[in-house]
Amino acid sequence: MPEPHILVLGAGPAGAATALGLRRLGYPVTVVSDWRRFAAVEGVSQRVLEGLRHAGLGGALAEAAVPAARQVRWSGQHLQLNQEFLLDRQRFDRALRDDLRRAGVTLVEGRVREVSRAEGYQVRLDDGQLLQGHFMVEARGRQAPLAADRLRGPETVSLLNLWQGEPRTPASAVESLEDGWAWMARLADGRCYWQVTLDAEGLPGKAGLPQYCAARRGASALVSELFDARALEPVQVHARSSTAILAGDCVGDDWLRVGDAAMAVDPLSGNGIFQSLSSALQAPVVINTLLRRPERAGLAKQFHQQRIEQLFMRFARIGRDFYGQELERAGQPFWERRRGWPDTQPLHLAADWAAVRVGRRPVLRDGFVDEAQVVVTADQPLGVWHLQGIDLPCVVAKLLAGSPLETVLKSQAMEQQKMLRRWLADQGYR
Ligand SMILES: Cc1cc2nc3c(=O)[nH]c(=O)nc-3n(C[C@H](O)[C@H](O)[C@H](O)COP(=O)(O)OP(=O)(O)OC[C@H]3O[C@@H](n4cnc5c(N)ncnc54)[C@H](O)[C@@H]3O)c2cc1C
Repeated sequence: MPEPHILVLGAGPAGAATALGLRRLGYPVTVVSDWRRFAAVEGVSQRVLEGLRHAGLGGALAEAAVPAARQVRWSGQHLQLNQEFLLDRQRFDRALRDDLRRAGVTLVEGRVREVSRAEGYQVRLDDGQLLQGHFMVEARGRQAPLAADRLRGPETVSLLNLWQGEPRTPASAVESLEDGWAWMARLADGRCYWQVTLDAEGLPGKAGLPQYCAARRGASALVSELFDARALEPVQVHARSSTAILAGDCVGDDWLRVGDAAMAVDPLSGNGIFQSLSSALQAPVVINTLLRRPERAGLAKQFHQQRIEQLFMRFARIGRDFYGQELERAGQPFWERRRGWPDTQPLHLAADWAAVRVGRRPVLRDGFVDEAQVVVTADQPLGVWHLQGIDLPCVVAKLLAGSPLETVLKSQAMEQQKMLRRWLADQGYR
């Protein structure tokens, strides 16, 4: 039987990482994507760069990531933080496509107009082309048509402003405002970028936005530090929704959502690309299981859906805690709406040995989703399978059955014993 053909809609980091992973598993993959239509600069950490390299997207990085010194004005404090990397998104997205071509992925440039299903998928593009596939990956980011949302944060919009200044060393800064926050960056070639994130309601109409944004820049000391007087002139504004959204179902028997199409986080968490990669890196194995081990479809779908939801909640809480750290803005409606969303549960639950269990959960094994015994803790409800090669469920099961610690550890090497003692102490084991 020929390999099932997979269609990936969207060539952002999520679509690109999924397509590369599928190629490595031997599937024929076609990625269809529109070009990004607006200029944007985004900031990423060292960790994201490593994630992109790990996903096979090193070429894209070499092209588009520039280190910059970053300042932060938050809660009345002015901190000079070490470094973030600035990504010119149009350049980065172009380079992602080069990485895909090099890996042998078929790339079609075009805008998806309609997706229909009858013995597989038919995808019609704006120019009339028709593409066919057996499996579909939805990776069109925030523009992906949504089924019902599972969870939606306060309605938020970001206004993107770009202008040309004099070439200077790259730098970036973030500051809190009474009714939102602003992120700004200057690139080595003199391009200047300022992005303000506000409540979606109560903004001037489109025609008034350039003047409105220029006036707001005029009120910022940080803007005058980072840019020259050109920053005070009105420039074209692109409005982009940045509401945090978790999609309803993220996986079926022959389709799956990754990246922002599955869950889009508040840009304050500064981790959009990281979380889009996280969902994309697991996707090829989930798809492989759905196609080649259909008897495990339930397990594979559970794996993808639960991890997406867990990732979303983690980043939503990280965002909430950033808002919460801005003590000087307490009481302002923008901040109040966000410091209590999505819930009040701490990012990490306290260790509780009484809650530790051993149970069966989906895991990734040899290119497929499989089921295995894992250790479930209050903070890790999806389970921990191995601890640096140690069969953790076996150790914990013995302890829970009443075996003394010394007896359980006896068979382990000294280094592993130390690691286990540390892990157990972190779980509240006494
Ligand atoms: C205002 C704002 C600021 C952000 N800042 C940061 C930041 O500083 N750091 C960070 O890590 N993340 C940031 N993010 C998040 C980051 O942009 C996303 O999380 C990330 O790009 C998601 O990747 P993706 O591949 O899922 O989607 P995208 O990168 O959005 O890619 C989707 C692709 O699909 C294509 N597409 C869409 N519709 C169609 C269609 N109908 N037909 C064909 N192609 C289509 C698009 O052109 C695009 O190429 C920010 C987001 C926003 C909204």
